[in-house]
Amino acid sequence: MKTLYRKDEDGDFMLNGEKRFITNGSVADIMVVYGRNGAFIVESDFTGFEMLEEYKLMGLHGLNLGHLKFTDVNVPKENILFYRELKPTTEGSQKKRTSAISSMQQFLGPERVAMSLQALAVAKRAIEIAIKYSQERVQFKKPISEFEGISFKIAEMVANYEAGKALYLRAYRKSQNSALAATCKLFVVTNTHKICDEALQIMGDIGYTNKYPVERLLRDIRLHRIGGGTDEIMKYIIQKDIYKGFNRQFREDIEGKVDFWF
Ligand SMILES: Cc1cc2nc3c(=O)[nH]c(=O)nc-3n(C[C@H](O)[C@H](O)[C@H](O)COP(=O)(O)OP(=O)(O)OC[C@H]3O[C@@H](n4cnc5c(N)ncnc54)[C@H](O)[C@@H]3O)c2cc1C
Repeated sequence: MKTLYRKDEDGDFMLNGEKRFITNGSVADIMVVYGRNGAFIVESDFTGFEMLEEYKLMGLHGLNLGHLKFTDVNVPKENILFYRELKPTTEGSQKKRTSAISSMQQFLGPERVAMSLQALAVAKRAIEIAIKYSQERVQFKKPISEFEGISFKIAEMVANYEAGKALYLRAYRKSQNSALAATCKLFVVTNTHKICDEALQIMGDIGYTNKYPVERLLRDIRLHRIGGGTDEIMKYIIQKDIYKGFNRQFREDIEGKVDFWF
């Protein structure tokens, strides 16, 4: 995010900057743009707004991912969602979070929990398809579900799905807990990616075609390990919370005085 703005004498704002990877950015008429200490509504017909590129994606082909640029875009004061003057910047204060960044960050936990729910729906669909296929497909005179190599995969897929559901319910109830939201996204999304891959494996060559939606589920879910914060950033958030001692729940787990579930 490189967007800067300055306030004019009449209270309007002038935006300059650009941002890659904006969901629906290539088709949006109205968008919310965050600067360092404010957020604005920008309309796509404002002079100086450009949609530089629409990316072609591996999955999620309806997503319309855009690269947006703002060159001296005049934003009228009526379009300000919020704004707070920053104190004059010194080297130290530049490193501090601004109100806009804090405001944006409070949505990240709930977004990650919501992405986990999307992933659970994808996992459920992949498991359903794989179970049905394994009961119908006959090899060596038996349905392939009778081979442990296949049925144990299904057992593992269901176990990971159920564990993900339990974690999701807990994170949903505490969605402002950013470490728990990160834990949930990391666990559910990486497991769903694995579940989709295993479903495809169970289906053999037909899984790799588009006769069944499993190849699509696999391509679509891959984004969730990147968008909304990558797996690596989820791990960064979790370990930071643990080592800084913020993770009271985990500390109490270790000490055995747990309010275990909610
Ligand atoms: C389909 C799609 C839709 C998107 N929609 C939006 C949107 O609507 N709005 C929006 O703002 N963004 C959106 N994004 C952007 C998305 O959030 C970012 O792509 C994502 O956060 C990763 O940032 P990056 O691509 O700059 O990766 P980079 O930061 O360049 O990371 C590259 C690699 O380095 C790793 N890495 C980076 N820093 C660290 C670190 N400190 N420690 C360990 N590893 C690290 C990353 O995990 C990754 O593996 C979208 C992206 C995609 C693909």
